[in-house]
Amino acid sequence: MEQPQRTTRVSILLPYKFNMAFTYETDVPLVPGALVRVPLGRRVVIGAVWDDPPDMAVNTRKVAECLDFPPLPESLRKFVDWVGAYTLAARGDVLALTLKEKLLVPTPKRARKYEFGGADPTCLRPALSAVQENASVALRKEVRMGVFSVTLLDGVTGSGKTEVYLEAVAEALRNGKQVLVLLPEIALSVQMLSRFEARFGARPAVWHSELTPAQRRETFRAVAEGRADMVVGARSALFLPFVALGLIVVDEEHETSFKQEDGVMYNARDMAVVRGKFCMAPVLLVSATPSLETVENVAQGRYKKIDLPVRHGGAALPKVEALDLRQAPPERGRFLSPLLAEAICKTLARGEQAMLFLNRRGYAPLTLCRTCGHRLSCPNCSSWLVEHKSMPRLSCHHCGFTTQRPLRCPSCEAEGSLRPIGPGVERIAEEVAELFPETEALVMASDVILGPAHAAEAARRVAEREVGIIVGTQMVAKGWHFPHLTLVGVVDADLGLAGGDLRAGEHTVQMLHQVAGRAGRADAPGHVLLQSYDPSHPVIKALLSGDLPAFLDQEAALRRPGHWPPFGRLAALIVSAEDERLADQTARALARAAPRQPEVEVLGPAPAPIALLRGRHRRRMLLKTSRDIAVQPLLRAWLAQVPIPRNVKLDVDVDPISFM
Ligand code: ADP
Ligand code: ZN
Repeated sequence: MEQPQRTTRVSILLPYKFNMAFTYETDVPLVPGALVRVPLGRRVVIGAVWDDPPDMAVNTRKVAECLDFPPLPESLRKFVDWVGAYTLAARGDVLALTLKEKLLVPTPKRARKYEFGGADPTCLRPALSAVQENASVALRKEVRMGVFSVTLLDGVTGSGKTEVYLEAVAEALRNGKQVLVLLPEIALSVQMLSRFEARFGARPAVWHSELTPAQRRETFRAVAEGRADMVVGARSALFLPFVALGLIVVDEEHETSFKQEDGVMYNARDMAVVRGKFCMAPVLLVSATPSLETVENVAQGRYKKIDLPVRHGGAALPKVEALDLRQAPPERGRFLSPLLAEAICKTLARGEQAMLFLNRRGYAPLTLCRTCGHRLSCPNCSSWLVEHKSMPRLSCHHCGFTTQRPLRCPSCEAEGSLRPIGPGVERIAEEVAELFPETEALVMASDVILGPAHAAEAARRVAEREVGIIVGTQMVAKGWHFPHLTLVGVVDADLGLAGGDLRAGEHTVQMLHQVAGRAGRADAPGHVLLQSYDPSHPVIKALLSGDLPAFLDQEAALRRPGHWPPFGRLAALIVSAEDERLADQTARALARAAPRQPEVEVLGPAPAPIALLRGRHRRRMLLKTSRDIAVQPLLRAWLAQVPIPRNVKLDVDVDPISFM
């Protein structure tokens, strides 16, 4: 007689471009979430036992090996399924955000270099002010209850939001839970990490793109084994296999860099809320300039809100003034108004520091031929080449193409006729050096501050006053605390408004308000000067008054009637191909199949603002629905009708932030 079959079947989700889980046979019982190796074609690949019912009919192969690793928790498996369904990404691609082959190379215990855990919630607890204490009590209560909730911690810059949320972190640690803090620019957040360390007497585990493979592997395992109790990370940290997550903090929740723009297009701020729901953990959104989305969620009673209305220690909020460039223009060939230069001069004379903000890397955003008007542009993208003196060359900020600065105009061959047009931070630094030759200036931009070590060194030089003037891009807007910095000059306050997408005004207010918030954080009062050609613009007025809620009310009034977010839903389709005609044909085929029903609108196809990117022609369409109509079923039905040719790429961006 034959032995009865002892094998059973399991579903395995593979971290590759498949939405479905595959069925395999196994001789040993495997719990859901268990990590395995399985044959796939001629390879053996990693995968995770998934919750889908296995297919009993198909012929299958056997699981090759079960790995010595804690199974992925159910909360994470549900999260992966949910993110896939919401973003229309393949679940395998979402799983790949958690699970990568190279993360599981075994590390022998004695070879482990990094310590995790050991955070002491009582190490250095500051005495909180009465408002801070109230906020802290409320947040600690959320954490203790251990149920899902979302709270906006809305406090002016320097009010102690960080101190207060660290109290919530401490509470979670006391309860034996893990904590995840998401920061927008973790690799550069040196000051923040030192604060965590000072507060808890231990370094948090960090998770971002600059980690070495060994750090990555060990952190991944430490999180899965529950040894890492405090993780500070970039958006991808949301996909770490936490076993006992008790709190998620999203610091600077309004930041657009929480949106991943390629691969699985997800917004970590929104997905943090979903992750919190599956883990039954409270979620804390923190900002001095909350997004209209979050403010509307508060207004609808979906999120709670806690306010910190004053700066800590009696520091006043900085005084903000506009400098009308029509009345006090810079000299020819310069970019700083004499009034701004004078203010810098006085600041330096008092032994204080000044910061000039311009959200443009490089020396000049455009190079133009004075003879024929030719502009140097990228061969692969519809964009100008940006001159960089630090390198020195011209480069495309979209695809990374670089070239030497030509001696002759490539079009008319005139010699010596190419001129830089407009400023980037390097050009402002040059002007500063001419105006204040005695003063040390420091450029802070992502192409010169290349990682945590550089950022730490920059922070040290500023703190020790080796530097008098900081010239920076958006990198300087966030999180820094420079006690001697009292003057902030915004070189071009009109800059962000030009492109004019849905949120241009909101994002400009948020960024400039954050930059302004760097001034006067200690004893000496802060002062902010906004250079503008249009000081009566609502954005500039909002910055002058500091009344951000009133500005968001105006924004809401503009967006509500047309069902623009957050009062409606959006999904963008981006069709791209090397062959322009093929891109157009596919976009038109999509347009013909577009959903037609009430409260659903399809805009486009139209050439994307960056119509050519890395050699691919791009067309965009936008699906807009009222809030009570989900876009995913519409998109699925729509896309199922249109075959996409092999040489064409279709990207689906649900809740788009960028419209480029
Ligand atoms: P925010 O996050 O709101 O910008 P921070 O938490 O960074 O504010 O606080 C601003 C500064 O004030 C920091 O240097 C912080 O250490 C300090 N600070 C805030 N609250 C307290 C407190 N209760 N005791 C001592 N220092 C505090
Ligand atoms: Zn390019």
